[in-house]
Amino acid sequence: MANYYNEHTILYLDGQYVKASEAKTDLFGQSLHYGYSAFEGIRAYRTDHGTSIFKAEEHYNRLRASAQSVHIPYPWTNEELIEATYHILDKNGLEDAYIRPLVFCPANMSLQKATSSHIMIAVWDWGAYLGEKLLRVSLSSYQRPNPKGFMIQAKVGGHYVNSIIACQEAKDKGYDEALLLDMNDFVAEGPGANVFYEKNGQLFTPALGNILAGITRATVIEIAAELGIPVTEKQIAIDELRQADAVFYCGTAAEVIGWESLDDLKFPLKWNDSVSRKIQLAYKDLVTGKKLEPQKQETVAV
Ligand code: PMP
Repeated sequence: MANYYNEHTILYLDGQYVKASEAKTDLFGQSLHYGYSAFEGIRAYRTDHGTSIFKAEEHYNRLRASAQSVHIPYPWTNEELIEATYHILDKNGLEDAYIRPLVFCPANMSLQKATSSHIMIAVWDWGAYLGEKLLRVSLSSYQRPNPKGFMIQAKVGGHYVNSIIACQEAKDKGYDEALLLDMNDFVAEGPGANVFYEKNGQLFTPALGNILAGITRATVIEIAAELGIPVTEKQIAIDELRQADAVFYCGTAAEVIGWESLDDLKFPLKWNDSVSRKIQLAYKDLVTGKKLEPQKQETVAV
């Protein structure tokens, strides 16, 4: 278990900088009881120009959209929250860090919308969430929630019970992570990451609609365009994914991480020979403020 805080850790809570060990929440909170909260997962990286929060505006825009989509009041500006985030990174002496803003609601046992809310932002040192080794993934018996029953595009607390049960099922079977299908049995995403597969030097990823619109997913699409690697967004059947040369997960916490296998099927392409690996390297360069490698002719699919 990661060490999220100690007695010196400072977090941001409703405009104040407070000790994590002394910050309190209400046991009658609507967020605690019903998962009625919105959150983000962001990363800061050490770069040559100092600490840099990757895509801060995009993450705080999504936090606002997530909260508002479930009628949680969101009175804050990106500017004040980004400033507060840099401030707690500095106060905690962190450069490479994971950042967790959480919007949560006060005591209310009813099922009515909140009329006020709180925000806290915490930071901690967290390595790549799914590790650095190629993943052994298992197809989940759970589907992602039906978008007609839930704000699937929002990062809302209660939604993540689906992620927890799917991830735990995979771990209990001895795998590293789960892959979930959507309610129509098309490939959706992981419990906390988007999926891409590679075939003949091209990339494919599930279209938006039944998945979280990952900021890393969008970044991968941008990087692929710069490297001249074609990307197709579409509905993907699980049998199609099984024919892939290589597969990877991507997300802020996980970054870009390749798959070794899906259940008992191993993907044939050596990770280091894949265009996916080039995306992985370019992503690392981008978040740490280095330039993308110049396009190499042999990586371009025809
Ligand atoms: N899907 C789900 C369900 C997630 O929780 C995450 C992590 N936020 C992602 C995809 C990846 O999103 P991002 O790249 O914005 O971190």
